[in-house]
Amino acid sequence: MYVRSGRAPDAKCPDCQAELSGVTGASPNPARNQPYTGAPTVCAYCGALLVFDSHLIPRKPTPEMEARLREQYPLIARLSADVRSSLFYRRAGLKNPAKENV
Ligand SMILES: [Zn+2]
Repeated sequence: MYVRSGRAPDAKCPDCQAELSGVTGASPNPARNQPYTGAPTVCAYCGALLVFDSHLIPRKPTPEMEARLREQYPLIARLSADVRSSLFYRRAGLKNPAKENV
């Protein structure tokens, strides 16, 4: 696994409006370990599954496209679900049972 962090064009998450300027990629293929048009990504603040457009700005996919991406990229789908789960428990002031043994 090859992990790389860097900057992406400044943008806001279309779901939660958080400022997004950094990016971390993880892929077995270094050439695919950076933002590219059509690449899926996840907002670190709300867990929204997004897609980089041709200007490398993260956009909200259509529901059909999101369903296809979740099937095609199970790790991205899992990351999205984990961020949303963590956010849910944090907002509710509850301990996240998925993190009790970590
Ligand atoms: Zn967001």
